[in-house]
Amino acid sequence: MTVEVERMIIGGVYCAASSGDTFPVLAPADGRVIAEVALAGATEADAAVVQAREGFRLWSRLAPRERERVLLRAAELIEAEGESRFLDNLIDEGGCTTGKARGEIGYSADLLRTAAGESRRLYGDTFPNDNPERISMVFREPLGVVAVISPYNAPLALLTKMSAFPLAAGNAIVIKPSEETPLTALAYGQLLLDAGLPPACVSVVTGMGAQCGAALSANPDVDCIALTGSSATGRVVGAQSMQHMRRCQLELGGKSALLVLRDADPVKAAAIAAQGIFNHAGQICMANSRVVVDRAIYPQFTAALKAAAESIVLGDLRDEASQYGPLINQAAVDKVLAHVGDAVASGARLLTGGSAKGLTVQPTVLLEPPRDATVWCEESFGPVVSVVAADGLDEAIALANDSQYGLSAAVLTHNVQWGFRAAREVRAGSVHIGMHAFQSNAMAPIGGYKMSGIGRSGGKYSTEEFTELKWVSVSLEDDGVDD
Ligand code: NAD
Repeated sequence: MTVEVERMIIGGVYCAASSGDTFPVLAPADGRVIAEVALAGATEADAAVVQAREGFRLWSRLAPRERERVLLRAAELIEAEGESRFLDNLIDEGGCTTGKARGEIGYSADLLRTAAGESRRLYGDTFPNDNPERISMVFREPLGVVAVISPYNAPLALLTKMSAFPLAAGNAIVIKPSEETPLTALAYGQLLLDAGLPPACVSVVTGMGAQCGAALSANPDVDCIALTGSSATGRVVGAQSMQHMRRCQLELGGKSALLVLRDADPVKAAAIAAQGIFNHAGQICMANSRVVVDRAIYPQFTAALKAAAESIVLGDLRDEASQYGPLINQAAVDKVLAHVGDAVASGARLLTGGSAKGLTVQPTVLLEPPRDATVWCEESFGPVVSVVAADGLDEAIALANDSQYGLSAAVLTHNVQWGFRAAREVRAGSVHIGMHAFQSNAMAPIGGYKMSGIGRSGGKYSTEEFTELKWVSVSLEDDGVDD
């Protein structure tokens, strides 16, 4: 069977790779080749940056209301045509269920609307100058060209989040999507073109991270790298950014903790914990892959979590009842199963799950892995949750902080002091009380402590990240020259 050959987009123009090479895009659900996509390398990455520099000149000079208009138009197009433009790609290449795909489409529209509003909010400042004959101002300016490098697990929503806000602030972008999900990114590029973004600002270079991504990262004409990906990639891209002393926004991995305190209802808490880890098969950066439960309710909680895990419906991605499907590829499955095997070998109890059929890993619950087990320390990025007991709030907080990551956390309690104490003392970019750790909001400052990243994205916080401040001062002193 022949498959479509998809071209990349450089400066609004569809083109093949200069080498003529392509790479296959596979459907995780059945291993079928969905498409062949042009393989971008350094030549294409650099060409896209040249286009984006020109795009920056045009786009940054537009009136805020014009930028707002384009972004709102993109939001309207997603609202009207999101299903036809994105649904199949999200399901086929991303392995999303229909519900997850619809959620991404809706969130993407919301992000574009929120970003559109930010176009008008590039507020500057003034401050009192000690010299009364001088006026001091602060201008807020776009950075220039932002390279948006995105992951596979939410291929539309995360691409929108990291591209719409820089655009609102007047930056031009170059998109380098995950090699697993280029089709969604190409459809998003077409959406931006249809919405009226200057073509020079629309490049989607479909290539591998180590070549195409690295070339963008090494390009001195890129003013900011906005990476959403693993902490390992963040380390490489961050180090490269420092070579050029340029901004980088790094939204990286997590090992988020959910604290279940002794006043929580154990059955309701287990349902919340299950939602927070098994969504999209645990391929969520903020998934609460570690649960710390007060010993007083541990037996009831673990029994309820086992039942919740075993009731998850796994099935056809287009069946609305299916709750999750396959992991993205075999390497992801191998990694998850290795984490589980290592935990069991080092003394953890496997309460349920622990096996895979094809690329679909069963919902898996581990009890009491040692604190140095890989599954406790490293991101598994699969449907695996580790549950450990704690005696009281202080120990629960200490266990939550026992991680190199600090992306998100959550606490289930009705005690307002316990909840806020956890919110203050857990070192994570967000802490949610009365819900699980996977929460999104287009206005929120999303980002991480520690190895979970640098910078915050969402609403006005993105505007701050994607702009530069400039001090401008004026002397009113008489220089003796007549007017
Ligand atoms: P990844 O780090 O493997 O890849 C992310 C992107 O970086 C891809 O486009 C890839 O091609 C590119 N890349 C890889 N090596 C590169 C290099 N040397 N130079 C430049 N670019 C390079 O991540 P992934 O497996 O696609 O996604 C899963 C990871 O993303 C998980 O760790 C997850 O927690 C994280 N993530 C974080 C957030 C967040 O908001 N913090 C959101 C979603 C996913």
